[in-house]
Amino acid sequence: MGSTYIPKYFSVDELLPPPVLLPAPFESVYHNDKNTLFRLFDYRILVTLDRLRERYGRCLVNNWHGFTAAEWREGAPYMFRFSGWRPVDCCEGAALSEHKLFRAMDCKFTETTPDEIWDEMITDANAPQFEFMQRIEAFGGMSWFHFDMGQHVRYNKAIYVLSNRGDRAGLPRQIERA
Ligand SMILES: [Zn+2]
Repeated sequence: MGSTYIPKYFSVDELLPPPVLLPAPFESVYHNDKNTLFRLFDYRILVTLDRLRERYGRCLVNNWHGFTAAEWREGAPYMFRFSGWRPVDCCEGAALSEHKLFRAMDCKFTETTPDEIWDEMITDANAPQFEFMQRIEAFGGMSWFHFDMGQHVRYNKAIYVLSNRGDRAGLPRQIERA
């Protein structure tokens, strides 16, 4: 445990789905010592979450722990279960979503809109909160900030912008790092 990065602002519950939706080996670790499960995530994604929180204020990833066990399986309005890691057989999102590979987060900020974050990325892609990001998703009206550490051709040199059917909220295809 001493070698595991524990985020300052996020519990492991926020980054994982409810324990009943975890693979059995993860679920048993969860019930023993759930903070050990931070090891599932790359250090860089955990550091990035803390840096985003410090820069942009209150941030929600998952909130299933505020709901009932029955709702964990069924889903419920305003309940987020798959905004961090997503089970490989999860019904939501792409077959090879970076969420399934422990490399993506969907952040809902209270005090900052995704547009404000994208604007800052355009003017200062070298800011610490963007240092490890490889790709973001952007489209008009998007209410959450998706970032991931997925591969792309200009890995580390630029942040790749994934569109929704060509709509990337006016952002360029790639945001260059200086
Ligand atoms: Zn996402």
